[in-house]
Amino acid sequence: MKVLKFGGTSVGSSKNINNVIKILEDYSKTDSVVCVVSAVGGITDKLLLAGKEAQNKNKNYSDSFNIIKDIHFNIINELNLGESSNIIAFADEKLNELKSLLDGIYLINELSPKTSDKLVSFGEILSSYIIAETMKIRGLSAECKNSQELIITNSNFTKAEVNYSISNKNIQDYFKSASQKTTILPGFVSKSNIGEQTTLGRGGSDFTAAIVAAALNVTQLEIWTDVSGMFTTNPKLVKQAYPIDKISYQEAMELSHFGAKVLYPPTVQPVLDLNIPIHIKNTLEPEAVGTIISNDETNSTSPVKGISNISNIALLTLQGSGMIGIPGFSKRLFETLSQEKINVILITQASSEHSICLGIDENDAERAKTAVDTTFENEIALHKIDPIIVETELSIIALVGDNMKNHQGISGKMFSTLGKNNINIRAIAQGASEKNISAVIAEKDVKKALNTLHEQFFESKTKQLNVFITGVGNVGEKLVEQIKQQRKYLKENLKISLRVAGLSNSRKMIFNEDGINLSNWKEQLQDGEHATLDGFFDRTKSLNLRNSIFVDVTANKDVANLYADYLRQSIGVVACNKIACSSTFENYKLLKRLSLKYNAPYLFETNVGAGLPIIDTLNNLIASGDKVTSIQAVLSGSLNFVFNNFNDTTKFYDVVKQAAAEGYTEPDPRIDLSGVDVARKILILARESGVEMNLEDIQNTPFLSESGIKSDTVDDFYQTLISDEAHYQSLYTSAKAKDCQLKYVAKFDNGKASVGLEEIPEGHPFYNLEGKDNIVMFYTQRYPEQPMIIKGAGAGADVTASGLFADIIRIGND
Ligand code: ADP
Ligand code: ASP
Ligand code: MG
Repeated sequence: MKVLKFGGTSVGSSKNINNVIKILEDYSKTDSVVCVVSAVGGITDKLLLAGKEAQNKNKNYSDSFNIIKDIHFNIINELNLGESSNIIAFADEKLNELKSLLDGIYLINELSPKTSDKLVSFGEILSSYIIAETMKIRGLSAECKNSQELIITNSNFTKAEVNYSISNKNIQDYFKSASQKTTILPGFVSKSNIGEQTTLGRGGSDFTAAIVAAALNVTQLEIWTDVSGMFTTNPKLVKQAYPIDKISYQEAMELSHFGAKVLYPPTVQPVLDLNIPIHIKNTLEPEAVGTIISNDETNSTSPVKGISNISNIALLTLQGSGMIGIPGFSKRLFETLSQEKINVILITQASSEHSICLGIDENDAERAKTAVDTTFENEIALHKIDPIIVETELSIIALVGDNMKNHQGISGKMFSTLGKNNINIRAIAQGASEKNISAVIAEKDVKKALNTLHEQFFESKTKQLNVFITGVGNVGEKLVEQIKQQRKYLKENLKISLRVAGLSNSRKMIFNEDGINLSNWKEQLQDGEHATLDGFFDRTKSLNLRNSIFVDVTANKDVANLYADYLRQSIGVVACNKIACSSTFENYKLLKRLSLKYNAPYLFETNVGAGLPIIDTLNNLIASGDKVTSIQAVLSGSLNFVFNNFNDTTKFYDVVKQAAAEGYTEPDPRIDLSGVDVARKILILARESGVEMNLEDIQNTPFLSESGIKSDTVDDFYQTLISDEAHYQSLYTSAKAKDCQLKYVAKFDNGKASVGLEEIPEGHPFYNLEGKDNIVMFYTQRYPEQPMIIKGAGAGADVTASGLFADIIRIGND
């Protein structure tokens, strides 16, 4: 004999019921079958809702009743059973009884646990009858037997305790004489020994099936549900979760106790001693292998078997110096809670004995506080202890695995993974058996925590990065295109799964926590929501995704001002915007500190030399113990372009205009031509070399004409380039006379920095610098005479985008 249980979704529609009947038909060809069924999916909740409405004198209870009625009659109609069936008469009778009960609740304004059990029992009574009769009408050997006549409990309504000796005998006696191939039993429902209707607790149909399986000592218990087994974690919250092939009873019990709803926690208990395996299967995908829960050795490579979570947790803290060394506090605390029938889910006590921390269901928090404060009234009045502290909106997450005890460092990994993602841990509990490590965290962090932990323990090979890009102009657009093109490569070769979760320009922004579809991101952005910088930050923060990176592809001061906020949320920052790094030294230092404190990388390689690996190289030199003595560099792609194209046959104005048109200058060319841009760059290099310096400390000798320097607007400035052509020609002629090239040079020497136009003689490494190239020469203790030289294209959208991309990958490789 086999026992199968089908859950709410499995019997939630005529289509699914037909699937169930097909499975039962196949099974019953070789063996007799007991089939336990849940109520039609969602009906128990709807019955409770109608009951609550009636109790609250809310007439909507009639509508809720009608919905329940319609759901059942729709299913019956779709099953195509014809006129002759008893089902309609039975359903009518039961639904009339239900309506009378609801009317009664409405009238007396009361819904006791006893009445509630009577109310919810209708769900399973209806579904089991409908399925059994359908099978009979289709010529199959089937009968419905009311489990209330088999399973006997105490009168602990809503979660009654089973009297096994009577129940086992009832079950065995009934099945001894049953001749049908398939017996359909309603799950969840039972009766007390004085005949009151009771239930086994929410989700209790699994338990019914286990009780029957144990009473009949069958070879296997199958739980058919709407997912393909017990998953590594809740599949609704973690897309990458996958079914576990084999798991021990203990592990399954721990996972279900800590929230894996797929199995009702007490289910394991009746079958455990008899060693009856539980096979979890998917009604919607019967070929999937599912999960086997048994005592067999499992073949898992990971010591962590699964991760689960329980929501709606309240944390109670009892603390005070009066507790230290005095026995009896915990006893009184637990006794109080037990008298109130409050279940304690998690306990921790610091060895100082100064405080005890308990996790309970949030719904019990108020009752618990009143009861505990009353118990300790005297001690509180004498200031020996504080009134109990209650914190809510919390969740428990738990790592579960029989083998965790044999592996070191799992809790360390768990907590550092959570810490790295800015998830605050409020309490920790680890049983001495080490089958379970639990942490209490804020409810809002649960999804992120499960995803990061899952990635850490089950997908350790891939790291997901969630990128939020602000500014999709020239460079930003190239970056998005490069990401789109490289994503597959990164996943396959670097095990980095890169998703663009947010995009904005100055007008619109879009978000998608599963990653924006990059094939038509421009159209999506056009239809996006109104963008603001704060709005972008708020959404990025509230999505609360792991390994989030904010990418600033603007040159905007207000964006740079938000980096600190991002870093404080443990969101990494990658920027080509130079403003933050070249702002005050205090701000630069603050961002560095926040980056360390919140474990959020702050990378800005593209601030100097676009995609050239200048800052990274400098950081590596310093990290490996070298010391920079001097830097000489040509750092402006735009100025290099200008002076490489300017001569006695061209006009200075035309060359600058061309540089602007090709995107080599900032929108305001004065920032380049005044040397400010280069000054910012050498400032950043000096700071990264370990020197405290500000922009004002940099000596800047301008080459612009007087009127150019004084111009108020960009247009005015361009006009001065025309009128002062002679001034610029004289710069060229002077250099030419000495066989020199004009280069805009930045220097850092002996702790001092300067920028200015220089006449570079032939033979100097700068002399032959072409186009928009940059060059940096680092003189260090290890490179005292022959400098380390980095040279190449130092401007342009493509190379800047690839520099940003390299920073993102750096974070991924971390
Ligand atoms: P049924 O009605 O069949 O008893 P339940 O809704 O009680 O189904 O349980 C199945 C659901 O449990 C799944 O749809 C899934 O959302 C949830 N669940 C939570 N944690 C897990 C897990 N670790 N593995 C599988 N399912 C889980
Ligand atoms: N129908 C009951 C519930 O929803 C029992 C079950 O489905 O297991 O809780
Ligand atoms: Mg269930």
